[in-house]
Amino acid sequence: MVISILNSSTFRFMARLVMVSTVLIICLAMMPIINFSQQASSPPPISIEKVKDNIYIIKGGSGANCFFIAGRKHNLLVDAKMTADSFREMLAEIQKTSPLPLRLIILTHSDGDHVNGLRGLQEKVKILSHLKTYQEMLPAVEQMPELKDILPTETYEESKIIDFEGTRLELKNFGPAHTSGDTIIFIPQSRTAIVGDLMFYGRDPLIHKHKNGTFFGYLKTLQMMLDYRPEIEVFLSGHAEAAGRKEVAELIAGLKDKENKVREMMAQGKTLEDIKAAFGPQPPPAGSQVRRPPLVEIIYQELKDRK
Ligand SMILES: [Zn+2]
Repeated sequence: MVISILNSSTFRFMARLVMVSTVLIICLAMMPIINFSQQASSPPPISIEKVKDNIYIIKGGSGANCFFIAGRKHNLLVDAKMTADSFREMLAEIQKTSPLPLRLIILTHSDGDHVNGLRGLQEKVKILSHLKTYQEMLPAVEQMPELKDILPTETYEESKIIDFEGTRLELKNFGPAHTSGDTIIFIPQSRTAIVGDLMFYGRDPLIHKHKNGTFFGYLKTLQMMLDYRPEIEVFLSGHAEAAGRKEVAELIAGLKDKENKVREMMAQGKTLEDIKAAFGPQPPPAGSQVRRPPLVEIIYQELKDRK
């Protein structure tokens, strides 16, 4: 009797244990799937806000912020989101604000979150980028052949001036910075610049060594943005809110401070490992989807290469 009671309560206990652990295992197994499918299927909705004059920022969707300029008869788009769906959704939203045909797309640089959405382009539109951006997109075409038809149709080097239906755009490349083909679009009459991934605040900027980006080039480019005449007041970028001159100056000061600390420690004979440890665990640079070296490591290498 005692034995059978024990047996039946043991049985009930075992059965409950199996049930609880089965539920737990199923839940654990489903968690990444649920998260992944939420991320993959529902990026934040596309939203459009006027920045200044005829310049608009397009947030949401998959990929970086994009921008458009409404001309008299056409729209001009800057960057192209990351997926065909987000690109098409963006074009539809633009039509609600400015129902004009699209005449030109300018790419700020070659990163997937700025260009891969071009797969959703269904009409023939001129695509303009820096020559190096075109060249940096070629390896991606090997992996994604559907990008072949939407490579930039026109390239420039150093600078290019465009009169877009009364809005003067001055495209500049100040040498390798975030990548080797960064374009900054200055819009002098609005005292505004669209700077791609050249402006981050609150976190380290991302420098793509595999696309010949450089820390010192990044610093130089930020300074050129501040020195530009007429003086620019609004800096629009792919992964941050609109910034003013103060934020750009603070970013430069913060980067120079980091450079000086690395320089000092190198003069004291510290190794890269010592320096990295002294800076503590560094959050991954903004916008990085794959593991990239922290900024202090890039600064260290560039200072070392200069010697
Ligand atoms: Zn980028």
